[in-house]
Amino acid sequence: MKKYNFNAGPSMLPREVIENTARQCLDFNGSGLSLMEISHRSKDFQPVVDEAVALIKELLQIPQGYSVIFLGGGASLEFCMVPYNFLIKKAAYLNTGTWAKKAMKEAKVFGEVVEVASSADANYTFIPKNWNCPADVDYLHITTNNTIYGTETRTDLDVPVRMVADMSSDIFSRPVDVKKYDCIYAGAQKNLAMAGVTLVIVKDDALGKAPRQIPTMLDYRTHVEKGSMFNTPPVVPIYSALETLRWIKKKGGVEAMDKLAGQRAEILYAEIDRNKLFRGTVNVDDRSVMNICFVMNDEYKDLEKPFLDFATERGMVGIKGHRSVGGFRASCYNAQTIEGVNALVQTMKEFEKLH
Ligand SMILES: *Cc1c(COP(=O)(O)O)cnc(C)c1O
Repeated sequence: MKKYNFNAGPSMLPREVIENTARQCLDFNGSGLSLMEISHRSKDFQPVVDEAVALIKELLQIPQGYSVIFLGGGASLEFCMVPYNFLIKKAAYLNTGTWAKKAMKEAKVFGEVVEVASSADANYTFIPKNWNCPADVDYLHITTNNTIYGTETRTDLDVPVRMVADMSSDIFSRPVDVKKYDCIYAGAQKNLAMAGVTLVIVKDDALGKAPRQIPTMLDYRTHVEKGSMFNTPPVVPIYSALETLRWIKKKGGVEAMDKLAGQRAEILYAEIDRNKLFRGTVNVDDRSVMNICFVMNDEYKDLEKPFLDFATERGMVGIKGHRSVGGFRASCYNAQTIEGVNALVQTMKEFEKLH
C-alpha cells in the first residue's frame, strides 16, 4: 500500500533526494568510498558545502554581509547559542509555543528576558498582534512557524531592534526578507534534510558584540571563520541538504514552494471546515500552511481513535496530533504532494460517510 507521510519531523523528503543520497552513501562520486567514510576536508566534499551554501544564498537572496553555516546540536542548541552570542543585557521574546518557550528558558541564563506577548493562556491557538517591542533590547526572538500548535507568521516583521528567528519548520517554504534578520536558524529535519544538521544564517556585523567569553564551539565566529569546518560537520546530512536545495531550485525556488504550500493548505483546511466531524484548532488568520492541526468536533470526540485507525489503514502516516493539542496534525512540508493531501481529504470524506 502506498504510504502518505505526514510526520512532523524528521519528515518527508523528496524521493530523489533520498535516492541520490543513498547512492552517494554506497559510492561517493565514483570514488569507490562511501560518503560516510570520506574526510570532510577532502577535495570531493568541499564542493558539497560550497554548492549548498551558494544555493542557500541564491534561493533566499541573502544579501552581502551574511554568513551561512552548518552546525550540529539541532535547533535546540541555537536556543542557547543565540543568547550566548547576542544577548548583552536584555532580549525580547514572542512566546508563541513550546519551542519559543524553550528558547526563552535558555536566554534567561544569560540576561533579562522580556516576553513581549504570549498566547500561552489560550493554548497557543493564535499569534499575538499589536504588541510593542522595547527599543532597548539586544534583539527580538520569534518562531515563524509553531510546529506543535499549527500557527505561523508568513510575513517578515518590522521591528526597531535586531531580529532573530527560529525557522526550523518553514524555512525554504516562502521568500524571506533576510535583511530584516540578524540571525535565522533551522534544524534541518523538517524542510531541508535528514536529521543531524542545523542551518544558521548570521549577519557578520552582529557578531562579537556580547562582552563575555564564549566557548569556542558555541561561538558563531568559530564556524563562520572556518566555513563550517572547525570540527567534523555532519557530512551525510549536509549532502542530503544539498540534494534538497537542488530539488527546490529545479522546482522553481521558494516562490514555487510558497505557492504549493498555499495550495496544499487550502485543500486540507477547506475539508476540515466543510466536514461535520472535524474542526481546526487555531485562529483562522494564523493557520500554519506547514503543520495543519485539527480535532474531532465535540459531538464526535469518541471517533478520534477510530479515525486514526481508519486513516492508518489507508496509508496515512504520522497524523496523530502532538499531545499538547490532541487530535490530528498533518505536516505538509515542501516535499508533501497535492496527491498526498488529496488522499487525506478523501479519507476524511469516506470516514464522514460512515458516521
Ligand atoms: C523541531 C523544532 C525545534 C527543535 O529542533 P531540534 O533540531 O530537535 O533541536 C525547534 N524549533 C522548532 C520551530 C521546531 O519545529
